[in-house]
Amino acid sequence: MREDTRRWMESDQAHCWHPFTRQAEWCARGHEPLVIVRGEGVWLWDSEGRKYLDGNSSIWTNLHGHAHPAINTAIREQLEKAAHTSFLGFTHPLATELAKRLCGFFPEHTLERVFFSDDGSTAIECALKMAVQYRQQTGAPERDGFIAFSNGYHGDTLGAASLGGVGRFSERFRGLGFPVRHVSSLADLDTFSSEKIAAVVIEPLIQGVNEMHPWPAGMLAELRHWCDENGVHLILDEVMTGFGRTGTMFACQQENVIPDLLCLAKGLTGGYLPLAATLTTGKIYDAFLGGADRAFYYGHSYTANSLGCAAALASLDVFEREKTLVHLSGKIAHLSEGLTAMKSRYPVIHEVRQCGFIAGIELRRPDGEKFPSGERFGEAICLAARAHGLLTRPILDTIVLMLPLATKLEEIDYAVNALDQALDH
Ligand SMILES: *Cc1c(COP(=O)(O)O)cnc(C)c1O
Repeated sequence: MREDTRRWMESDQAHCWHPFTRQAEWCARGHEPLVIVRGEGVWLWDSEGRKYLDGNSSIWTNLHGHAHPAINTAIREQLEKAAHTSFLGFTHPLATELAKRLCGFFPEHTLERVFFSDDGSTAIECALKMAVQYRQQTGAPERDGFIAFSNGYHGDTLGAASLGGVGRFSERFRGLGFPVRHVSSLADLDTFSSEKIAAVVIEPLIQGVNEMHPWPAGMLAELRHWCDENGVHLILDEVMTGFGRTGTMFACQQENVIPDLLCLAKGLTGGYLPLAATLTTGKIYDAFLGGADRAFYYGHSYTANSLGCAAALASLDVFEREKTLVHLSGKIAHLSEGLTAMKSRYPVIHEVRQCGFIAGIELRRPDGEKFPSGERFGEAICLAARAHGLLTRPILDTIVLMLPLATKLEEIDYAVNALDQALDH
């Protein structure tokens, strides 16, 4: 092992604290964390010079590949001007352009205002607070609760976490956040009164952290209809699904749904920098006009960060120049063929769930029973895949394959083949 690698590993194990990680195992003697030092296209290199395909788009963020010349140049050019200036009291050119471009994806007079923040969680946090304050300022203060879906995931800050339905992540802090009612299907919505509900929050088309479970087709449009009938706002969490992952720019476009609030983050900057956006309608925005007491008192130091906006605009340009979405449909079909063929070879593959370019491969015992959770079979498979040059993470025993949109057909084959070999092993 190289001297640098050893030094980085030691400093990490002595001083870093990783997300969602059992630190005792991470720091245990014998565990050698990968030190990723470089990326180019869909490939990553570790400090030992080994090369891997970025099989989960660097935790669901990267779209056009790493070190993309156009995105790098855009960031570099902005860096020469200013890395960050305050959005509180000032504006800057790139934020104005980005806000306009984002609204341009939706019909006129629908989503027409953009509130910037930093991450998926803060985009949600902001949507929740807007939804509640809107009710306070439009004569319905009793509507201060939310409906969320069981097994949903919307982030880890307290408000966003109160929506979360994945027990192992959110149970501990239950009761500390917003009042939330969890439902598991549309039918559940009519089992109680919605009079005290401000909004419904959902991950459209597919729940990510819930082991990649797609919703039935048409469900989103039906939910929109229910919201309209009941005077409830619809908040879409497109933090994962946004920016092409499902095959269209936004998942909601597949069912012609326009939400009242739309949360974007992960892919917004092409996966280069933390930046998030909460989009809303003129109607909601208008309720915040008037005196100081009506303003939206919310914000973060790095709101609308200039480098993030530069990356986001460059990413949107890449979509146009490289015709990313046009090429994507063939890749989605190719991935689907590859995974279907692999499933037929391995009885341990219980189900392949795919929504656009997002795939979850659920592993179970051949008799259909789940593996005992202590076996951590999914982790073992991902570790084996790493030896074949593919980096990804499982969610329980579901292997996530969420390749950057820029992945070429032969690179898709490489990823599927690495998984195949891992399973064979
Ligand atoms: C990742 C994710 C979030 C949280 O975003 P962060 O940037 O990690 O705070 C929220 N919702 C969904 C659907 C996500 O996948």
